[in-house]
Amino acid sequence: MTIIDGKEVAAAARREISAEVRKMTDSGAPAPHLVAILVGSDGASQTYVGHKEKCCHEVGFRSTVMRLPQETTQAELLEKIAALNADVNVDGFIVQLPLPPHISEQKIIEAIDQRKDVDGFHPVNTGRMISGLPSYLPATPDGILSLLKYYQIDTAGKHCVVIGRSNIVGRPIANLLSQKGWDCTVTLCHSRTANLKEVVASGDIVIAALGRAEFVTADMVKEGAVVIDVGITRVPSDKTKSGWKLLGDVKFDEVAPKCSYITPVPGGVGPMTIISLMQNTLRAARGEVYGKR
Ligand code: NAD
Repeated sequence: MTIIDGKEVAAAARREISAEVRKMTDSGAPAPHLVAILVGSDGASQTYVGHKEKCCHEVGFRSTVMRLPQETTQAELLEKIAALNADVNVDGFIVQLPLPPHISEQKIIEAIDQRKDVDGFHPVNTGRMISGLPSYLPATPDGILSLLKYYQIDTAGKHCVVIGRSNIVGRPIANLLSQKGWDCTVTLCHSRTANLKEVVASGDIVIAALGRAEFVTADMVKEGAVVIDVGITRVPSDKTKSGWKLLGDVKFDEVAPKCSYITPVPGGVGPMTIISLMQNTLRAARGEVYGKR
C-alpha cells in the first residue's frame, strides 16, 4: 500500500511553476497576477485565501486580495468583477465561496470573464471541459488528476466510483476520468444512490467527495483499490492544541491496509487544489487557453 503524498507532489509542482515564472520575468514579461475577492469574515474562507496568497508569493506571482465587508451588495460585487474583467494587469481572479446569502453565487460566477476564470467554475469553462476542449479545469478535480499522473496510476478500463455529485468536485472528476486518455468506466453516486455499499465495493478507483467524516469503511472497499479522499470535516479533538482536527470521508486506518494507493487527510488532495489554481493562473498569463489578450 502506498500513501499518496500530496505535499510532495505539490512541492514539486511549486518548483516547476517558480522556474516558469522566472523564465517569464527574465524575458521581461510581468509575473502572473492573481486576484482573490473575499466577501465577509468567514473563518475557513479567510484561511483558504491566506493559503492562496502565500502560495502566490512562493511561486513568484503577483497577488492581490480584495477584502469586502459582509454587507457588500450583489451590484457592488458585480461592479468589482466588471473592473477586474477589464483590467489588463490582472491575469485571473477568483471570488471565494461561499458568498453571503443575499448574493447569488451563480450570477457572480457567470459575470466573470471566462478568460480570467481560473477557478474553472464559469459555465463556458464547464462546457468546454465536458467537450474535451481546452479550458480552466476546476482546481480539486485537476489536483486529483495530477496525483494520479504523478504516481502513474493506471486508469484505463478501470471502474471508478465517485461519491458526491457537486459541481466543484464530484461531477467534474467523474466527467474527466471518463474522457479519452483517462478511459475509466465511471459510476457517479449521490445521496439517492441505491445499494451504495455494493456499488462502492465494485470500484477499482474510489473517489470520496461527500463531506461526511469517515463514511467509507473497510467493508465498502475492494482489495487493491485506489482510494482518493477529498472530504474535509473539522471535528473537535482533545489531542490537538487548536481543539479540533480534520477528518476525511474515508476511515483511513481500516481502509488503508486494503488499498494499493490511498490519499491521507490532511496532506493528500488538499495541497494539490491550490497548485491547480496556480497552474491555471500561469496558463491565463500565457494566454494558453483563450489566446493572448
Ligand atoms: P457538496 O456538499 O456540495 O456535495 C456533496 C455531495 O455528496 C452531494 O452531491 C450529495 O448528493 C452527496 N452525498 C451526501 N451524502 C451522501 C451519502 N450519504 N451518500 C452518498 N452521497 C452523498 O460537497 P463538495 O463541495 O463537493 O465537498 C465534498 C467534501 O470535499 C467536503 O468535505 C469538502 O470540505 C471537501 N472539499 C475538499 C477540497 C480539497 O481541496 N481537498 C475541495 C473541495 C471540497
